[in-house]
Amino acid sequence: MSRQVTIVGAGPAGSILAVYLGRQGHSVTVYESRADLRRVDIDAGRSINLALATRGIVILEELGLLDDVVPLLIPMRGRMIHDLDGSQTLQPYGTRPEEVIYSVGRNELNAVLLDAAEAGGDVEILFNQRCVGGDLPSGSLRFHDGFTDTEYDVEVEHVFGADGFGSEIRALIQEHNTGTEMIEPLGHGYKEITLPAGPAGKHLIDPNALHIWPRGDFMLIALADSAGTFTCTLFAPNDDMEGLDSADAVMALFEGQFPDFVPLVPDLAQQYLDNPDGRLATLRVTEWQLGDRAVVLGDAAHAIVPFHGQGMNAAMESVKVLMACLDGQADWAQAFLTFERVRKPDTDAIADMAIDNYIEMRSSVREEGYQLRRELALELERRVPDKFIPRYAMVMFNTMPYSEAQRRATVQTALLKELTMEAESLEDIDLEMAARLAADLG
Ligand SMILES: Cc1cc2nc3c(=O)[nH]c(=O)nc-3n(C[C@H](O)[C@H](O)[C@H](O)COP(=O)(O)OP(=O)(O)OC[C@H]3O[C@@H](n4cnc5c(N)ncnc54)[C@H](O)[C@@H]3O)c2cc1C
Repeated sequence: MSRQVTIVGAGPAGSILAVYLGRQGHSVTVYESRADLRRVDIDAGRSINLALATRGIVILEELGLLDDVVPLLIPMRGRMIHDLDGSQTLQPYGTRPEEVIYSVGRNELNAVLLDAAEAGGDVEILFNQRCVGGDLPSGSLRFHDGFTDTEYDVEVEHVFGADGFGSEIRALIQEHNTGTEMIEPLGHGYKEITLPAGPAGKHLIDPNALHIWPRGDFMLIALADSAGTFTCTLFAPNDDMEGLDSADAVMALFEGQFPDFVPLVPDLAQQYLDNPDGRLATLRVTEWQLGDRAVVLGDAAHAIVPFHGQGMNAAMESVKVLMACLDGQADWAQAFLTFERVRKPDTDAIADMAIDNYIEMRSSVREEGYQLRRELALELERRVPDKFIPRYAMVMFNTMPYSEAQRRATVQTALLKELTMEAESLEDIDLEMAARLAADLG
C-alpha cells in the first residue's frame, strides 16, 4: 500500500531511504536544509571525502548503484604510517586482495544517491527547506524556506528523521517520550586541510593508502581525492586546538609534529586559520521512534566519532535494517520499534569500537607490542579464516552485526595479548597451538 512519507535530510541516510521507499511505490517528499549540491558548490571549493567500506558497498550494489559509484572510488590498501623522521611504512588492512577500503568524495557520492532517489518513483526533493519545529502527534511539521525566507506548515503522515547529529526530528520525538539522550564529547576536535595536487594533477603522495601521522594526542590523516588533491584532517585535543590561533602557532605545531607534511601544503597556516573547527562526540539516544509517526536513523540516532570510518557506512546499513523491519509489516509503529530494538545494540557497539580505534590509530600503531599482535592476528586469520577474523576486518570487510564483531574482538584481543606476552616476534610463538586456541574461541 502506498503511503505518504516525509524524509527530513538528504544526506547519505535520507537519500538512500528515498531510493528504497520511492521504488516501493510510496509517495516520498524529502526536505533538505542545504542547497542542491549537484548545482551549487556547497563546500566552497573544498573537497571532503570519506572511507567507504563493505557495509556501504553491499547496499549500493543491492540498489544497482555501484556502477555509478565505482568511477568515484580510490582504493586504499592499508595505513601508510608516517614517522617523525619522515620514514613511511605500509600496514596492509587485510590478508586478501579484496580487503581494501575506498576514498570517495562526500558530495559526488551524495549526488549519485540524489539522482537515484529522483529517478526511483514518486520522489520529490525540496532543497533549502529547513525543518524548524512542529507537532508530531498532530502530524504537522514547520519548515523555513531559504528561497523566500518564510515559514510554513506541512501535514505529515510518517516522518523519517535523517537530519544528522543536530536532528530537529529527534528533538520533536523527545518532547513526547521518556527516553534519554546522551551526547558524550570526545574532548578532541578536528580541522580539514587540502593537500594540493602536484604537476599535471598527480597526487603528491601515494593515493592508494590512508596516510596517518600518529603522534599520541595529535593525529593527522590524509585520504586521496579524484582531483589529485588529498583531504587531510588534523585531530587534536580541544584545548590545544584553541591555542592554534595564529600562523606561528600553526606552523610550530606542524613543523614539530609533521615536518614531512609542511612542504606539501604551501598555504598551510592560511588554510588552517580559514577553515572551521569541528568538534567530535558520540550520541546515544534510547528512543528512536514515536508510534508510527516518526523514526530517526543515521547520525540523527547514532552519531559516532569518525575513527573507524564507519559513520556513513553505519547510516546506510541502518536504512537497510529499517527497510527489513518494514518489509511485510503493515503496522509501522511496530516496525519502528523493532528497528530501534534490533539496531541499537549494534550502533552502540560501533560507537565504542570507533573510540577504541582512535586510541589505536593515534598511538598504538607505533607500539612494538601492537605490531606483533597485528602480525599474529593476520597469521591466525590465514590459518583459521572462519574462526579468527581481526576486528578491523570484521567491521570493515564484513557485514556481521557490529555487536557480534565487538564480542568476538574482545575474546580475540585477550588471546592475542596472552600469546604475545613473552614473545618478541612470531618465531617465539607456537603458531599451531595458537591456531588451535583461536579455532576454539566462541
Ligand atoms: C571528520 C569526519 C570524518 C568522517 N569520515 C567518515 C568516513 O571516512 N567514513 C564514514 O563512513 N563516515 C565518516 N564520517 C561520518 C559521516 O559523515 C556521517 O556518519 C554521515 O554523513 C551520516 O549520514 P546522515 O545522512 O545520517 O547524516 P548527514 O550526513 O549529517 O546528513 C544530514 C542531512 O540533513 C540535513 N539537515 C540537517 N538538519 C536539517 C533540518 N532541520 N531540516 C532539513 N534538513 C536538515 C543536512 O543538511 C544534511 O544534508 C565522518 C564524519 C566526520 C565529522
